[in-house]
Amino acid sequence: MAFQAPKGTYDVLPGSGFLAVRDGLLAPAELAGYSYIESPVFEDTELFARGVGASTDVVSKEMFTFTDRGDRSLTLRPEGTAGVVRAVLQHGLHHGQLPVKLRYAGPMFRAERPQAGRFRQFQQSGIEAIGLVDPALDAEVVALAWEGFRSLGLTGVRLLLTSLGDPTCRPAYREELTAFLTGLDLDEATRARVLINPLRVLDDKRESVQKQLAGAPLMPDRLCADCKAHHDAVIEGLQSLGVPFEPAPRLVRGLDYYMRTTFEFVHDGLGAQSAVGGGGRYDGLSEAIGGPHLPGIGWALGIERTLLALESEGITPPSEKGLDVYVVSLGVMAKAWAVTAVGAFRKAGVASDLAYGDRGLKGAMKAADRSGARWAVVVGDRDLEAGVAQLKDLRNGDQLAVPLAELTPTVLEKLA
Ligand code: AMP
Repeated sequence: MAFQAPKGTYDVLPGSGFLAVRDGLLAPAELAGYSYIESPVFEDTELFARGVGASTDVVSKEMFTFTDRGDRSLTLRPEGTAGVVRAVLQHGLHHGQLPVKLRYAGPMFRAERPQAGRFRQFQQSGIEAIGLVDPALDAEVVALAWEGFRSLGLTGVRLLLTSLGDPTCRPAYREELTAFLTGLDLDEATRARVLINPLRVLDDKRESVQKQLAGAPLMPDRLCADCKAHHDAVIEGLQSLGVPFEPAPRLVRGLDYYMRTTFEFVHDGLGAQSAVGGGGRYDGLSEAIGGPHLPGIGWALGIERTLLALESEGITPPSEKGLDVYVVSLGVMAKAWAVTAVGAFRKAGVASDLAYGDRGLKGAMKAADRSGARWAVVVGDRDLEAGVAQLKDLRNGDQLAVPLAELTPTVLEKLA
């Protein structure tokens, strides 16, 4: 084989269920008024440096950055929120009705070490609700992801929820946590992390670290009055929407811009890469990228891991609709007729194809069987002269002669 897909990438192949998952995850959001937006897959590098945070792993180690022919530094987007907020600001969408509700889907790029469920080009479905602070909106956003997973039939997704506080309460907490962590017996790399982002240390998976973290101060216990009231209201909102969650006081996110409501969806059937999605409130993001104060909340769900979660629950996501009819023709006139017949079927909304190439009746019937179509329409030159076609049920082999003029209505009737 000449070439292979680059390391950490993969091909979405027919029958994967990819589209059903990508779009299914967003279907509840569409019903809740989230409009589709699509921003470029590359942006000014600075957008991510400021909008995601220069100290994050994503920005400092994982970006695909390149210089274009005009010497501009561009980066393949590692996540969707910064680009969407940039688009909102650029086009003044926030001057209209608030919140601006948006949904998106597409590839993201991170130069991570590939492993099961971790790719360098991966796909996310996401939503953003921009312009308002309202705990009821937080609850809606979280619930829409929950419903997205449920609508695919998944039952093993767990919602982890916490609040990361805000600029009123987080700095004091951060100081308290730093003081606590400084007193522990940590290796040099971890001590360095304490100084850059102490919250991330709480997420350290190593037992030697976790053991020492038992008595660490936790953000949810240190929230200011406003953050506490907000968090309590989000919890109430989720309860009234019937969305179960687990308090996760040690949850931190890889991206810097989160504050207050922060959440992750995990699935236990996935091994190490158990997060199937995550999100949170990012009230400081707009200002960080040079815009006005513009709060927002959103999530992004990973399509590949959602597909893996489905597989682990034994669920086959629906593939594309497939063919209803496969037309097999014998003879020159019949072939010409088949081409028009397929055109008429398609116009009427009947998914149809025909046997191209010259493969004889036997080969063409085999192709009909393989096509997955429900019916074959078989026509020879003699049938044409008689004004009929043979409609064959490919499941049971039943066959009946149908007048040509009644072919499309007959198939439509059988499909109804
Ligand atoms: P994040 O933007 O890091 O919050 O990621 C949101 C979701 O995207 C995660 O929960 C994963 O499901 C998915 N995801 C993130 N990074 C990758 C990756 N490298 N490969 C596959 N999926 C990913």
